Amino acid sequence: MTQVYNFSSGPAMLPADVMLLAQQELRDWQGLGTSVMEVSHRGKPFIAAAEEAEKDFRDLLNIPSSYKVLFCHGGGRGQFSAIPLNLLGDKTTADYVDGGYWAASAVKEAHKYLKPNVIDAKITVDGKRAIKPMSEWQLSEDAAYLHYCPNETIDGIAINETPDFGDAIVTADFSSTILSHPIDVSRYGVIYAGAQKNIGPAGLTIVIVREDLLGKAHSVCPSIIDYTVLSENDSMFNTPPTFAWYLSGLVFKWLKQQGGVDVMNRINQQKADLLYGVIDNSDFYRNDVASANRSRMNVPFQLADSKLDSLFLDESFKAGLHALKGHRVVGGMRASIYNAMPLEGVKALTDFMIDFERRHG
Ligand code: PLP
Repeated sequence: MTQVYNFSSGPAMLPADVMLLAQQELRDWQGLGTSVMEVSHRGKPFIAAAEEAEKDFRDLLNIPSSYKVLFCHGGGRGQFSAIPLNLLGDKTTADYVDGGYWAASAVKEAHKYLKPNVIDAKITVDGKRAIKPMSEWQLSEDAAYLHYCPNETIDGIAINETPDFGDAIVTADFSSTILSHPIDVSRYGVIYAGAQKNIGPAGLTIVIVREDLLGKAHSVCPSIIDYTVLSENDSMFNTPPTFAWYLSGLVFKWLKQQGGVDVMNRINQQKADLLYGVIDNSDFYRNDVASANRSRMNVPFQLADSKLDSLFLDESFKAGLHALKGHRVVGGMRASIYNAMPLEGVKALTDFMIDFERRHG
């Protein structure tokens, strides 16, 4: 069988070793003769696995003890509501930085709860898409918090600066970049991420919240997204997504074995350099994001002749390079290269791209 590399933006590929172990454990988890999916979340074996997953996650991101880690339902979009419902308090506005599709989606949802002060951070630098530096973001005085998205999965745009806004409560959607590089968690009030890209299977959302922000939820906030309720119940107020939590725990162990987030950061840079290098060295492919804001996780690229798009997708699929079709909003191609994508996968893609150009350029 052809070796398959899956470039899906999410749900995305998971480490092969993790999938193999999970497959074995589906028959017999911890000698119980059953899988983790079939046991109670209130039983000792699951609670132990859940606690270990949280510990490993904390270790990986060096999360200070003054932060709670919550394992929730609802995905990234659930957090677009959870953030205002938990943090708005008696204020009526919050700062929302618009840098792309997902940040704008958060703004749309926020309108249900408040009057967002939208900071349009999209700019053009030398004809390429870019983001205004953080020093130019005009925060409002009466905002309950600031929200931004450090990696726009669809646009292929990253904001790499670390926020430094004094007392402002910074909240960030790390759905497509969490665990790909070290984060200074202490600069944030809330960090959240849907699991299905760089953590584990869909169905789980991880929230890292500073303890002093608890206790402020609006009275109509549903309990299942109320950070205080979740925290007081160790994320088990209702039945958590047990399988996704367990499997994410296996991914955290795998990450530790690889050497942790510093090592992933280095490998992710190598992968991105390789792919952007091939795009930039050719007139056949192009990426229109300014280099300072290029995403290392999601690399959109266009073929100079879009008439070749379907042939490219057809041939790449046959070569075992799957899910390269770009999002409908951007078009062209997109290669998502999260932690689980090995360097060899990106090498296979770039070899294919060079060969495709030779044959059709
Ligand atoms: N935020 C970002 C950055 C995303 O990439 C996505 C999904 O692709 C979402 C939010 C929405 O996540 P979900 O589908 O889990 O609600």
